[in-house]
This record gives sequence, C-alpha cells and structure tokens, in this order.
Amino acid sequence: MSIPPPVPPVRAPLWTQRVAPHPTESILPPQRTFDSEAAPRQEAPGSRRGRRGWLVLATRNPAKVAEIRTLLAPFPWPIYGLDAFPGAPDVEENASTYAGNALAKARAAAEFTLETAMADDSGLEVDALKGSPGVRSARFAGPDATDEERNRALLKLLEGVPWEQRTARFRCVIAVVRPSGEAWTEEGVVEGYITTEPRGDGGFGYDPIFWVPQLQKTFGEVGPEVKNRLSHRARAVRKARERLLREAEDGKP
Ligand code: IMP
Repeated sequence: MSIPPPVPPVRAPLWTQRVAPHPTESILPPQRTFDSEAAPRQEAPGSRRGRRGWLVLATRNPAKVAEIRTLLAPFPWPIYGLDAFPGAPDVEENASTYAGNALAKARAAAEFTLETAMADDSGLEVDALKGSPGVRSARFAGPDATDEERNRALLKLLEGVPWEQRTARFRCVIAVVRPSGEAWTEEGVVEGYITTEPRGDGGFGYDPIFWVPQLQKTFGEVGPEVKNRLSHRARAVRKARERLLREAEDGKP
C-alpha cells in the first residue's frame, strides 16, 4: 500500500489574514475610556509607546505632575496625569521597596490607559536611624501627622547626635512600564545632613531639615529651580528621560 504524499497546508493570502489584536486589547473592558476633554486625542507612531504615544504620570497630585513635566522638558510626547483618565485605579503603596511601589503604580496605570506610564517613589534615609524612615517616609510619625510634626519627631530622635553623624539622603526611584508590560527603573540620590532646627519654609516634607553641602542651605531655603538642579527626583527623572529618548531613537518595536 502506498502512502499518499503530504498535503501542503493551505494558507490564505497574506493580505486577507487577520491581524492579531494588540496584546492588551482583549482585556480592555468598554468602560476603560479616556476623557477626551481632559486629554485630547493625539496620534503618535510606535505601538510600544502605546496607542497614542502619550506618557501617563501615575499620580493624581497636580503639583507632582507639574514638577515632573518641568523636569522632563523638553519632551517630545504629550504628558498627562492620572486625573485625565476617569476610573483609573488607585494603588496602595505597601511594598517594602521604592521600586516595588513605583512599579506597582506605573504598571496599574499602563494597564489601564494602554500608554507608557511613569511613577515615582521616594523617601529620606537617615544613617543614624539605620536608613529610617526610608520607604515609610510619608507615614512616619503616624498617617495623620503633618510635615511639621514629622520633622519635629525626626529631630527629636536625633537629639544629641553630632553633626558628622547626621548624614542622610533623599532617594527616588522612577519606574516606567510600557503597555506591553516591559518595565525598568532609574534611581536618583542627593546626599546631605539633618539639621538640628528647621530652616526655611520653602518646599515640602523634610525639605526644611535637609541641608545640602553644595548649597550650604536646606532645601527649604532655596526655590524650586535650585532644588530641581540637585534633587533626587530631578536626577531620577532625567535618567528616565534619557532612556525614553534613547529607546525611541533606537526604534525598538
Ligand atoms: P513620594 O514618594 O514622592 O510621595 O515621597 C514620599 C515621602 O518622602 C513624602 O511624603 C515626603 O515625606 C518625603 N519626600 C520625598 N521627596 C521629598 C522631597 O523632595 N522633599 C521633602 N520630602 C520628600
């Protein structure tokens, strides 16, 4: 008995084959729309960057959106905060590392918006307190404490600690997550000392007690332009900016 020759598979011509949907398209429920008023539609090439080629900052804090926008400038793509996307989920910052928190926030924003998302997490690390408050900086001295109460509590813990042992640093991790799920982080650090008294009323958080040797002043005593030249967030955002621009130039799919 002779065996019939193998039958070649029948292929539809290329132009009639269905194009596979975007990998995240199938998990997109109908209510996941964006606010076209707040974020006008703007097409941009490059599926890796997202459908519209936007950068979404995973924060609802308008001051943070404004600060990161300034730090990213000049930037070739539209930048939006999470407020432009009604229904976007809020993510609890309960990871044990800055990167864990930043990645969780950026991932949730990228999944929801189908755009490239950026998030940050930062904190103050005091050497005499073995790196505390660190990733818990926002909640140090209790969830309802004010910035001033947090600063007072920290200064109290450092009472009697000599100047040379009052070393500290602000650390910031920026996470970028692509709609494809690809993710990376960049880090920025600024070294300084914790003063014995708050100095200056500029900035926010621990700024009035963080003294920077290059400035011979606390961050509370300088304006935002000076702080943005040196700050942990500025350093991390600039690294992330360079990487985003490099990846776009490399034309990665
Ligand atoms: P976030 O991750 O940027 O929200 O920062 C977490 C906490 O770290 C803030 O609530 C502040 O207490 C502290 N922190 C972070 N960055 C700064 C800064 O630039 N100046 C003062 N405090 C900061």
